[in-house]
Amino acid sequence: MTETRDTVILGSGCAGLTAAIYTARAGLNPIVLEGHEPGGQLSITSLVENFPGWPDGIQGPELIENMKKQAARFGATFQLAHLNSVNLKSHPYKLNTSAGEIVTRTLIVASGASARWLGIPSEQALIGHGVSSCATCDGFFFRGKPIAVVGGGDSAMEEALFLTRFATKVTLLHRRDAFRASKIMLERAMAHPNIELRTNTVVEEVLGVEEKEVKGLRLRDVTNGAKSNLDVEGLFLGIGHEPNAKMFQGQIDLDDEGYIKTRNNVLTTLNGVDVAGVYACGDVQDRRYRQAITAAGTGCMAALEAEKYLEEHGH
Ligand code: NAP
Repeated sequence: MTETRDTVILGSGCAGLTAAIYTARAGLNPIVLEGHEPGGQLSITSLVENFPGWPDGIQGPELIENMKKQAARFGATFQLAHLNSVNLKSHPYKLNTSAGEIVTRTLIVASGASARWLGIPSEQALIGHGVSSCATCDGFFFRGKPIAVVGGGDSAMEEALFLTRFATKVTLLHRRDAFRASKIMLERAMAHPNIELRTNTVVEEVLGVEEKEVKGLRLRDVTNGAKSNLDVEGLFLGIGHEPNAKMFQGQIDLDDEGYIKTRNNVLTTLNGVDVAGVYACGDVQDRRYRQAITAAGTGCMAALEAEKYLEEHGH
């Protein structure tokens, strides 16, 4: 017979690992399912300057590794597995994962959000051949080359600034003339001599599909429809993220963009009624703040709720 666990944590980013530290320390023996992006977004970022307690900043992967060690020290275990589907209609909950069935009394969903793509065929064809959504991972390959970054938020600014370490020139393309990026990040990008900002511009096509490498971009000015070519050898997307919550459709309430709706920050619902013992934390339920520290904060809340639920309903 399959053992019933007290708690399973889906996702090993900042939210999941914080939930793991708290539930492990509370003796709940959590298992953390690490999906297709172990460590989450922090593991593919560079210097994190705004996580309290690190006056000189800390590298994202190091911060994640520290959290993982901290959770493991209290008994959390880790397994590489995807959640295929879940049945939240009968308790304890059965999770159908790539590593087999797992049965649990509580579930903490910390599955985060994945990078968004433009979705045009030429972009999709050249992913890994000059098109990337991760400057930290792939920037190194563009030493001495001109590249473009798409987006108008903090991610795009951060990517553009980071890529100046390698690229000869970074052209930042944004579809509007107003930016979502914070003032400080926008000012840094604007002040950089190797970054050119082009607004009201969209990518129509990535050139080089035949050659299997990026040869340039076909651009369109949205104000007058004028088309032009931009000579670049790389394209980085910094256009936000999609929540990883599709497997919960029909099981818990999602909003119109697919984020998990929560009550009191971490409680999940179905048709507005609480789903007992199922909590969501981090970027999968947060379309507003999306910071490492807020993910950690909601991870802690989810863990405390799971602990309270088990105290009231039995282990
Ligand atoms: P974001 O703020 O949602 O910005 C996404 C940008 O991409 C927007 O400018 C958007 O344009 C553009 N975009 C979206 N879909 C597009 C498409 N199909 N084609 C062209 N452009 C498209 O996302 P983010 O920059 O990833 O930031 C998310 C959160 O993380 C924010 O709260 C941010 O502050 C935070 N963050 C902070 C830091 C930092 O502090 N160092 C670094 C990274 C992220 P529109 O503006 O026209 O919608």
